[in-house]
Amino acid sequence: MEKSFLEFQNVSFQYREDSPMVLNDVSIQVNQNEWVAVIGHNGSGKSTMAKLMNGLLFPNAGEVHVDGLELSEENIWEIRRKVGMVFQNPDNQFVGTTVKDDVAFGLENHGIPREEMVKRIAQSLKAVGMEEYEDHEPHRLSGGQKQRVAIASVLAVAPSMIILDEATAMLDPKGRKEIMHTVNQVRQERDVSIVTITHDLNEVTLADRVVVMNDGDVWFEGTPRELFEHREDLQTIGLDIPLVSKFAHELHQLGLNISKQPLNHEELMDEIW
Ligand code: ADP
Repeated sequence: MEKSFLEFQNVSFQYREDSPMVLNDVSIQVNQNEWVAVIGHNGSGKSTMAKLMNGLLFPNAGEVHVDGLELSEENIWEIRRKVGMVFQNPDNQFVGTTVKDDVAFGLENHGIPREEMVKRIAQSLKAVGMEEYEDHEPHRLSGGQKQRVAIASVLAVAPSMIILDEATAMLDPKGRKEIMHTVNQVRQERDVSIVTITHDLNEVTLADRVVVMNDGDVWFEGTPRELFEHREDLQTIGLDIPLVSKFAHELHQLGLNISKQPLNHEELMDEIW
């Protein structure tokens, strides 16, 4: 039986009493070591959900549990240590003058001893393939490299879960690819749960499970493979299906089979990543 790490139990949220509900009675879970992709059109509630996962916001109704702890003012710091976040803009996440200093900063905040810090900086930069850049200036790196350093900074604190909130949105296709590979690598090598928030369907293909949000409701929950079986319905909630999948599907409709199926999940992953 898979062990759950994060749970939303009937969570509802609105920013103000007189404003509409942003999340309506949402129940989801993320298991230990699982990669869950949360997808939905702009304004569907994804970022709000991410903020409720590490106590940047609290629910108006329902409960959020992280590693068995109920999200509350008392255990907020413990929860924030367990759940690291990587945000959209790579340039807003740097404080150090070198890559190494930057990763060190988060560790200093957690009072990690010097020797242990050196070890963790090396390990986390290696985990994202940036070990050769430790003395580089962060602002000179490419977008993808900056986000990899941001992931390393989070990893160094040894969280049990990492949330990437639209962490690829400002990157070019090469940078996006780098981040998807990095996340996949980290998931395989570390004992960590991963939540990626995205509006790009290409980015859900490597995840173990997908949660599709639509206007504050969970519209779908299942594997990427199951999701792509609903490919037509996705357009009705404002999501574009990946081009490769669309193309293969159209060929299939025309009777020009490039594969036995309209394009299965593994083939789709190969084509995209
Ligand atoms: P997504 O990440 O899917 O784009 P968000 O969670 O950012 O969605 O937003 C969901 C809804 O909440 C939107 O209607 C948005 O306008 C509203 N919203 C987001 N942040 C705030 C805020 N700080 N104050 C008021 N409304 C907000």
